[in-house]
Amino acid sequence: MGPRRSDLQMSPDAMLALARKAAELAVARIESLPGENAWDGEFKEGLERLLLESPPEDGRPAEEVLQRAVDDILPMTTRLDHPRCFGFVPSEPTWPGVIADFLASAHNVNACTWLVASGPSQVELTVLDWFWQWLGYPKGSGGLLTSGGSAASVDAFVAAREAAGNPERPTVYMSDQSHSAQARAAMIVGVRPECVRKVATDGDYRLDMKALARAVTEDRATGLQPIAICANAGAASTGAIDPLRAMADYCRAEDIWLHTDAAYGGFAAITEKGREALSGIERADSIGLDPHKWLFQPYEVGCLLVKDARKLEKVFAFGTTVLQDTIWGANHPNINDRGLQLSRSFRALKIWMSIQTFGMSAFRRAVSKGMELAARADEYVRRSPVLELQTPASLGMVCMRVNPESAGLEEETLEAVNREVLARLFWDDRAFVSSTSLHGAFALRLCIINHSTGWDDVRETLEAMERFGKDALAA
Ligand SMILES: *Cc1c(COP(=O)(O)O)cnc(C)c1O
Repeated sequence: MGPRRSDLQMSPDAMLALARKAAELAVARIESLPGENAWDGEFKEGLERLLLESPPEDGRPAEEVLQRAVDDILPMTTRLDHPRCFGFVPSEPTWPGVIADFLASAHNVNACTWLVASGPSQVELTVLDWFWQWLGYPKGSGGLLTSGGSAASVDAFVAAREAAGNPERPTVYMSDQSHSAQARAAMIVGVRPECVRKVATDGDYRLDMKALARAVTEDRATGLQPIAICANAGAASTGAIDPLRAMADYCRAEDIWLHTDAAYGGFAAITEKGREALSGIERADSIGLDPHKWLFQPYEVGCLLVKDARKLEKVFAFGTTVLQDTIWGANHPNINDRGLQLSRSFRALKIWMSIQTFGMSAFRRAVSKGMELAARADEYVRRSPVLELQTPASLGMVCMRVNPESAGLEEETLEAVNREVLARLFWDDRAFVSSTSLHGAFALRLCIINHSTGWDDVRETLEAMERFGKDALAA
């Protein structure tokens, strides 16, 4: 390379030095992760003092800036990839996936159209083929990669709304266990908040079909127009799977779009057990997935699959003059015609590179391991004299609380005790656990899907719960 052509370029040597330094620091972080706390953070005042400033007029040495990011900013997070991170939905990316994001940025890919990104578009189509085959969808299925499960739901509801003829008074149905992303997506596509119906669930936190049918019938009688019913395939609190077949039967009979939120649980389908648990999912009109959860990819990458892929382009494809050169015909799809984004990062590369590198057998083992560890945690809790199982292991998730049978505690006391246990876990243990509310009951929830998590990590966290629980009961 000759002299720098702009003030925003670096010499090749400087570029390499910076990249090397970044890689060294990132690898060192991953190496030391199991010995670190699973959480670190700071209150606003402290971080403002450190980080709230005007942008500098003149630059600083790049390695100094990098070091500051690594020392002061990046550690202030929940380490979602920590082997003892069980809170929310953790996620531990593979290194080839991380490198793929770097490469895609360095190659400045905009995965918008075939003309602008033919190689990346084909890789995205390839990855989508893998996905729909894993889920048992037929040929002709398709979709796109999105920023996450939330964006996948927005795109799905737009397609559902248009398939229903864009009615004046649309309603959407989901269970009281559905992720808030579903209600938000419904609101974004123009469903009034009071028309987002939260349908009751049964004792296993699965949508109650009778309650669903009742709600739809009542709404139709008052002139409301259902556009979509949303099923959980791995509910956020419990991993519960709604009655997918019954919902598909009902949606077919009533001619309503069935969307399945499989952002959490969908990739269990690459294992035999998971596929069995999710059977029926292939009958949904659309499925939302999150490769940045249980497919071990760095943020962001979600996915929407639609059984009849043409339904997406029918809604989202707008030919414009400024893009007229990009129209090459149906055999050369412009993936931006399937969703809300025009400029799009090349998200497929990380999935492609990590699966090419490790192979499906390694991914299958990694997903299976999460389910096996959750099942072991379930057994442990059933035998524990201190802990009570609240929901059985389902797709890598299990809920429990401290509740010794002999103590005969009231709900209110139980909640106080378990809040105390959660706080002690947070401050005194290296693990990170989060809580949820199950039909009003406070629950400690373990989501066990990181590929480097071992039984010892889970067992020691359960032991800490028991220990803190005894302390809290004694207090
Ligand atoms: C994570 C999650 C979502 C939201 O997906 P994002 O990728 O965070 O946008 C929706 N539903 C379920 C069940 C989830 O676990």
